[in-house]
Amino acid sequence: MKKPRILLSSPHMGGTEQDFINRAFKENWIAPLGPNVNGFEEDIKNYILNSFPSGGGREGGAIATLSSGTAALHLALIQLGVQAGDEVLCQSFTFVASVNPITYLGATPVLIDSEKDTLNLCSVQLKKAIKDRIAKGKKPKVIIAVHLYGIPYKVDEINAIASEFDILVIEDSAEALGSTYKGKACGTFGTFGILSFNSNKIITSGGALVCLSEEINQQTIFYATQARDNGPHYQHSKIGYNYCLSNVSAGIGRGQMQVITKRVAARRAMHEFYIDLFAGIDGVTVFKVTNDDYYSNYWLSVIFIDENKTGGINREKLRLYLETYNIESRPLWKPMHLQPVYKDAPFYGTGVAEGFFKTGLCLPSGSNLTEVEKGRIEKAVKDCFLGL
Ligand SMILES: *Cc1c(COP(=O)(O)O)cnc(C)c1O
Repeated sequence: MKKPRILLSSPHMGGTEQDFINRAFKENWIAPLGPNVNGFEEDIKNYILNSFPSGGGREGGAIATLSSGTAALHLALIQLGVQAGDEVLCQSFTFVASVNPITYLGATPVLIDSEKDTLNLCSVQLKKAIKDRIAKGKKPKVIIAVHLYGIPYKVDEINAIASEFDILVIEDSAEALGSTYKGKACGTFGTFGILSFNSNKIITSGGALVCLSEEINQQTIFYATQARDNGPHYQHSKIGYNYCLSNVSAGIGRGQMQVITKRVAARRAMHEFYIDLFAGIDGVTVFKVTNDDYYSNYWLSVIFIDENKTGGINREKLRLYLETYNIESRPLWKPMHLQPVYKDAPFYGTGVAEGFFKTGLCLPSGSNLTEVEKGRIEKAVKDCFLGL
């Protein structure tokens, strides 16, 4: 009989979600906004703005929960004034949602390669791109920097370039809830930070925009609720969106925020599990941060395979092998400059992200994997590499 499938990352309930949802039903508060939404925003604020050793990121910051991380990024770009014809710099090695909102606005993504220490934005290529775009007549409006797989990017380096050229940063922290850089929470370094709670993220319920102030938070909610002006009738002077999080979904988020610390610990324990598992296997490296400035939630554990050292086993062979054990694994994100839809976007790089895509694999990393499932993964990996 086929064993149950082991997924890369699946939703993991904390236990109290149903109570919050029941309360929403009891109060007949199902539609957007409501007590769970406010509570969820407070929970996130307490977690990322207030609970880290150096006091989180920013004084007076506020959280707007939204229907998705993509919606959050879209509203961030709008509020930074990105319009048709503008250029926006973005890491090429990422999930497509980091880039699509640029296109929604009729702006052009300018894609930048990664560097090897963090898998994220390469400051050398970033600087080169900015200078070249300026020379060609257009200064990029915004930098979108991503903490991919929950690995913090080189925040100080990227911020230094951003200030040198006076360009604002949007931080795509969709995969990095619970990660920190120099003791401060990811999501709090940019002019805006985006969070995602979609079905395979560390918690599951919509998305959020981390804003610099309560005023900007209010402006975000204005855009997320069809941009209605003050007054008794419905009047509109701006184009808005319907990007609110429902009070029911926010109830799921509330339940999950009660156990977020445990969820991060469990993902990190999975990463440790892989470090031990691959310690005796030549040619496979489990990606990890390079020093204590970086603290990763290790949303997904990533390995790189050097097939010259594994006797020809590459990432695709391992992936298919795990598949025969009904274990899901997945190649790393395919860089945007290699995607058919973005092949014509300007790209600055030297093939680093391409290399990650060729040799990297994400392994099951959910916080709900059992000892039995870990045993199955261990056996499959050892069978594949050591022929046990
Ligand atoms: C998941 C994700 C998003 C988008 O979030 P949604 O909530 O799915 O819209 C954006 N960027 C990255 C890097 C992501 O992984």
